[in-house]
This record gives sequence, C-alpha cells and structure tokens, in this order.
Amino acid sequence: MAEQNPIPTQVNIAPRGKSWQGGKLVTWIGGHPTREAMLHSARQTLISHADGRVSHARQGSCPDEVSGHDVRDDECPVCQALMALDVV
Ligand SMILES: [Zn+2]
Repeated sequence: MAEQNPIPTQVNIAPRGKSWQGGKLVTWIGGHPTREAMLHSARQTLISHADGRVSHARQGSCPDEVSGHDVRDDECPVCQALMALDVV
C-alpha cells in the first residue's frame, strides 16, 4: 500500500485513484480524500484512545516497553493515527 511518491506532502486533495492513509498518500481509494480529513480523523482516534474507547490492535508491532515506543503497526487504527500526525 505504501509507495514512493513524487507528489509533495503539502498536497491536500488526493489525486484520482489515491487517498490519504496513515500519514501517506497511497494508491488506494479507501483512505481519506484530503490530508486535512486524515489529520482530523487521526486526532479523533487519539482522543478516543486517551479516553479508553479505542485500543491498539496488539497484533503486530504496536509500541510498548518490549517492542519499543517508536514502532508502529500499519494495520492498527491507533498506530495509523500516530503515523498520520508524525508522532513517530
Ligand atoms: Zn497500535
């Protein structure tokens, strides 16, 4: 899903056939249509995580004391929110 992309990250509206997901412009239309929408969703996800409504998937490399605090799981919603907000 992730790819090297010549389009600068300042782009807000995803070009046709692409969308924003986990902080990246990806060739997939299932993500967010704008960078702004992705960032808004990421903030909402982190707020939901903070108040206990959403948790890390814990099925891959979610951050913890064992794996490290800088690892991220591409399939986890909380990790995707962290990647979207460049908290890595
Ligand atoms: Zn996670």
